[in-house]
Amino acid sequence: MSDFSAGDAGASLQPLDIAWAQFDRAADVIGLSDDMRAVLKKPKRTLAVSVPTRMDDGSITVFDGFRVQHNLARGPAKGGLRFHPGVTLNEVQALAFWMTWKCAVVNIPYGGGKGGVICNPKSMSQGELERMTRRFATELAPIIGPDKDIPAPDVYTNSQTMAWFMDTYSTLQGATTMGVVTGKPISAGGSLGRNEATARGCVFTIREAAKIKGIDLNTATVSIQGYGNAGSIAHTLIAEMGAKVVAVSDSRGGIYSPDGLHAEALQNFKRETGSVVGFPNTEAMGSADVLTVPCDILIPAALEKSIDERNAPNVQARIIAEAANGPTTPRADANFRERNIMVIPDILANAGGVTVSYFEWVQNLQSFYWDEDTVNQNLERIMTTSFNEVYETSQRYEIDMRTAAYVRAIERVVESTELRGMFP
Ligand code: NAD
Repeated sequence: MSDFSAGDAGASLQPLDIAWAQFDRAADVIGLSDDMRAVLKKPKRTLAVSVPTRMDDGSITVFDGFRVQHNLARGPAKGGLRFHPGVTLNEVQALAFWMTWKCAVVNIPYGGGKGGVICNPKSMSQGELERMTRRFATELAPIIGPDKDIPAPDVYTNSQTMAWFMDTYSTLQGATTMGVVTGKPISAGGSLGRNEATARGCVFTIREAAKIKGIDLNTATVSIQGYGNAGSIAHTLIAEMGAKVVAVSDSRGGIYSPDGLHAEALQNFKRETGSVVGFPNTEAMGSADVLTVPCDILIPAALEKSIDERNAPNVQARIIAEAANGPTTPRADANFRERNIMVIPDILANAGGVTVSYFEWVQNLQSFYWDEDTVNQNLERIMTTSFNEVYETSQRYEIDMRTAAYVRAIERVVESTELRGMFP
């Protein structure tokens, strides 16, 4: 997931470069002062930790881990923990930066955070992962907590990771502290609807965008890159709205069928075989080819930087909904602006995940749990309102949706920052 090797401007284009370029575009639109830009760009707090872990063979491996709190003006930091060999401090800082704007664009009371450990979870046993997670939680304990910083799952971490994390923090506190992380299993303080929330939120934004673009979802065609949590659930939900998913891919390759792919059958096939590749009655193609097949709606749900200036001109969709974080490079964005393709930016399109994480935290703090309909209705309200606020902003300033989302988010963070003032 954190492969930044491909893409325009080559490997030298760092995630934070992309993030700051997006921010500056919006800051220019609203004439943000240089002082405020400097305050808002830098992370508030960066913690680097060593995570010594006893391996199954008795040896000790010392992993490097990070937690970045980007901005706390609107509330405690919120953001995932990534376990991946490609984790870098630059990437974690960019992801924390994006979280600040994502929380602000959907108006939930959090700042941005992110964390990661440089490790290869695929080569580690469950026992090794548990010991590493518990030690990482111990090292982060001084700066996290339900009113300070609330981690969540990200790439190669899951609800089990969060259960270990919560248990470790609770042990250190001497008190069960459910609200220290979100994305927990239901039986350990999780929320109903959290697993589907990112895809569900994304599909609500697509529904609103389709109305504006005059696309009838009952006849629309869709292509999805990435068939994990976000991509595969988006398939199910958009098909329920009547759209036809004609192409999908995962890391092993892509498949295409102009007649449409059946969500449940394909998910069963992937569960049994490990990939979408080879699904009967489909045409095989490369993982990235699904980005450029004929379709009305494209959902990148895999890698950062998967759409760059080389493949952007060949994208045929009229709406791109970024379920993934950072899939579109700035030059690809420029191409889409020129061709009037609507990009629903990541900080809006995939904000459903953090929104239901917020609901989970609220339920934990109140020890009062909601039914799934209540979760989904509140998610729909927030995603629909946020989409329409961003669209109105894009019309008012005559700017693209990404820049409009940043404008909306920056306005909110600036307001809190100015009202709170600077200490000392
Ligand atoms: P996941 O690990 O469940 O799934 C990722 C999928 O991408 C897998 O199917 C994998 O095979 C596929 N993939 C990897 N490399 C690929 C390639 N080169 N071409 C095509 N497919 C490839 O991850 P996820 O949780 O679905 O996350 C996907 C994206 O969505 C990430 O950018 C993540 O940051 C973002 N996101 C996820 C959530 C969430 O709640 N799950 C929330 C916000 C953002």
